[in-house]
Amino acid sequence: MAFQLRDYQQEAVDATLRHFRKTDESAVIVLPTGAGKSLVIAELARLARKKILVLAHVKELVEQNHAKYESYGLNASIYSAGLKQKSTEHQVTFASIQSVARNLDDFSEHYSLVIIDECHRVSGDVDLKPEDIENADDSASNKKNETQYLQLIRKLKEHNSGLKVLGLTATPYRMGIGWIYQTHHYGFARSETPRPFVKCIYELPLSYMIKRAYLTPPKLIDATIAHYDFSSLNPSANGEYAQGEVNELLNRYPRVTEGICEQITDITQAQEYQGVMIFAATVEHAKEIVSYLPKNETALVVGNTHHQERSDLINRFKAKELKFLVNVSVLTTGFDAPHVDFIAILRPTQSVSLYQQIVGRGLRLSEGKDHCLVIDYAGNSVDLYHPEVGQPKPDSDSVPVMVNCPKCDFANTFWGKVDEDGHLIEHYGRRCWGMEELEEGTEVQCDYRFKFKECGACGAENDIAARVCVECQQPMVDPDDQLKNALKLKDAKVIRCAGLSLASKDNRLIVTYHDEQGVELKESFDFNKQAQKTVFNRLFGARFKQGSEPRQFASVAEVLRSEHFLSAPDFVVARKQGKFWRIKERLFDYQGRYRKANQES
Ligand SMILES: [Zn+2]
Ligand SMILES: [Zn+2]
Repeated sequence: MAFQLRDYQQEAVDATLRHFRKTDESAVIVLPTGAGKSLVIAELARLARKKILVLAHVKELVEQNHAKYESYGLNASIYSAGLKQKSTEHQVTFASIQSVARNLDDFSEHYSLVIIDECHRVSGDVDLKPEDIENADDSASNKKNETQYLQLIRKLKEHNSGLKVLGLTATPYRMGIGWIYQTHHYGFARSETPRPFVKCIYELPLSYMIKRAYLTPPKLIDATIAHYDFSSLNPSANGEYAQGEVNELLNRYPRVTEGICEQITDITQAQEYQGVMIFAATVEHAKEIVSYLPKNETALVVGNTHHQERSDLINRFKAKELKFLVNVSVLTTGFDAPHVDFIAILRPTQSVSLYQQIVGRGLRLSEGKDHCLVIDYAGNSVDLYHPEVGQPKPDSDSVPVMVNCPKCDFANTFWGKVDEDGHLIEHYGRRCWGMEELEEGTEVQCDYRFKFKECGACGAENDIAARVCVECQQPMVDPDDQLKNALKLKDAKVIRCAGLSLASKDNRLIVTYHDEQGVELKESFDFNKQAQKTVFNRLFGARFKQGSEPRQFASVAEVLRSEHFLSAPDFVVARKQGKFWRIKERLFDYQGRYRKANQES
């Protein structure tokens, strides 16, 4: 049996084989919705020959994946209580994780591969080592703390310690959790600590699928007439907004929702859109939206919609009996109605992944559909084609910026600020994410830091939040303690540094630090003396242009020419020595409780 795989599907299969020939480490494949991952699964199953298990978190997805697999003329088992089948007789079993986790003893066999669909939902490290399994405390309470996925993997590894785990997803990032894998095959890291999966071995961007006409092109429109302004709301760490706050804000704009719904109805009629999905911010909001839409053509699906009612409504929507489907983010992953050609976003989101999932509902190919209209009424200004930065957006005018590492040249994506011409003003990146290859094929993350604090004991560069030095393990001085202690001393002066200026005298460089009120501290570096030149370069050269290219200054004149690009410390601490103030500390890249200059308190 041979299938006709698209080029990228074959590449994904080849990448999987290459990876698992080398290692048992878990792997992730990132394919946009609609990329046909079922063919990738079918080909892997064919090549595996031994038993494999394909997991999903909802029975709809189990059913969908199974049906797709059988459509290639293959047979597979289903193990899902919700689908009233619990069989593992075929080489391939499509299973729901909940059903499997409740019946682990049915999986006391040799499986060679577990494939986890929508694997961005997995928490915990799936790479359980044989010693983890042997040393595991078998008490019930300990097992309860483990996710269902990990329980299953533990069980399967008892029968095959070389079990391979492969995750599939369109969105390898989850707000609040972060990246689901640690390193990428392009040679960069996503995290300094272990993630649920070890490595992303293949990734296909959405733009590729659209360019090759495997997906419908979206027509993206920012609503200008009627829209919401959610910018005053602050999302939580996991990117969610408090429902109460959202409702309160929406209540302040009673006419806006009505106006939006009129526009959606008008556009739908005028342009003859076939299937309209509307994403609401809260349940209350969704109900209000429904009240403004044509009664006989509108359905509402929210979290507590009864299961039977939900599938009836979805079926009527798929049959085009209903034109408008309103929901509160319940119909993102796994929902498949290819005729959807108009998506209206009335909810705020900070997440590129969620935005992609929402828009993805309208990108399936369908007879007679040449585009999908996407109107964002919530002013999210998310770039559909831009990757996740991996950190919460620091403020509303930050944008993703590309910053090359001066050490390894890797192109990092960080949050940052640009001027009107798109030139970088500043960025918030801390450490380069590039990977460097050592001998024997092992890789480590590049150690270049754009922002850092120096260890007082050994001088090593550390992350600005580090508590213990990465090199010598000595505790790092807390800058807040440093400031607090200095502020207590009578003979100390601390300035909140707003900028610096330079002057020269007899080959000495004079640096003046200014605070917001005009208070100054001065120090000088004698460039005739190598030691002082070295200190200056260590302090200022490494932070040249925000660390984007470290410099070694040879002369005072050279420094003066680059004055504009030197980074000023955030605080400067001096002690009285005779008649003079002698500078003791310069706190660069400060992060802590004290307000920095030019920063609102
Ligand atoms: Zn680097
Ligand atoms: Zn150290």
